[in-house]
Amino acid sequence: MKAVVLCGKGQVEYREVEKPVCGDDDIILEVKACGICGSDLHFYYGRMDPLGPVPFTMGHEFAGVIAEVGKNVDPCWKSGDRVVSENTGDACGTCAACSKGDFVACAHRETMGCSMDGGFTSYVKIPGKLLKFYKNCLWRIPENISFQEATLMDPAANGYNAVIQQGGLKAGEIVVVYGVGALGLMSIAAANLGGASKIIAIGMHSDRKSREAVARKYGATHFLASDEEDDMVKKVWEIAGEDGVALTIDAAGHPSITETAIRFTRNEGAIVRIGMSSLPYNCSLDSFAMKNIRIMGHMGYNQESWRNCLALAECGKLDLKSIISCELPLEEYHKGFEMSRKQEAAKVILIP
Ligand SMILES: [Zn+2]
Ligand SMILES: [Zn+2]
Repeated sequence: MKAVVLCGKGQVEYREVEKPVCGDDDIILEVKACGICGSDLHFYYGRMDPLGPVPFTMGHEFAGVIAEVGKNVDPCWKSGDRVVSENTGDACGTCAACSKGDFVACAHRETMGCSMDGGFTSYVKIPGKLLKFYKNCLWRIPENISFQEATLMDPAANGYNAVIQQGGLKAGEIVVVYGVGALGLMSIAAANLGGASKIIAIGMHSDRKSREAVARKYGATHFLASDEEDDMVKKVWEIAGEDGVALTIDAAGHPSITETAIRFTRNEGAIVRIGMSSLPYNCSLDSFAMKNIRIMGHMGYNQESWRNCLALAECGKLDLKSIISCELPLEEYHKGFEMSRKQEAAKVILIP
């Protein structure tokens, strides 16, 4: 079978790999759709080191049908079941985070597609070791949700966690979402579902081509381009008025955003950082202490995020479809990565 394989920092090959063998405890998933994520771009363009020993198949946002089930696997899983992977590939199962079911926060977590084989291929193995203690590493896809839409569960649960669970949004509050990639857009959707009175999306001029429309569809009441504004802090305060911004989601990651966000987030507000950058902070953080602002790091989601987002998608309140810009056959992966890099697409889905 063909796979998009990460062979080193910024080294990607489209090549033949062995179909995984199903052990007695494993499940083999036939991949029907796999989304290109921002972290895939970091690997692809050499901005981030592979998180595990190379080579491995990339892609962590994948959905499909169960093709094979090992004889020791819980009988709740059967061939033909439609499922989406939560993309945890391994965890210790016993640390404080695992004991709570927060497997993403396990120090020994392996991520399918980021540190071990993932979904940019036809078949992927869900390891039996993990299935023994983490049944929800696979989630059933509701009948009215397509495989393509189901791949969006990863960023959707991520945004939900950032805004609702970590950010603690209360209905009526004003939210800023910095960055309008998939995580930013899904954070906007979560803020809208959580009852934000105003949602100010901040992107770049280049986002106006495709992502601004999705941001507005997902509930952004305002769209600002950071390279069009002279004074972003003043502009945000003008829009927010006296109430001020209660919650800022940094889904872009540049260090300057934290400095700006501290200035436009109101006293006792919160800033949740999802975005990534290896650049250092060259600013004083005194004002975040003076303003009693909470700044929180954020990684992924937990089972509550997945459960609630699937329920919201099933009942039609969470739109997983509008963010999908296009579907491409797997062999056109390079085109998909380029469209994502140039911000011409909000989300590209690859079909094996
Ligand atoms: Zn992702
Ligand atoms: Zn653990």
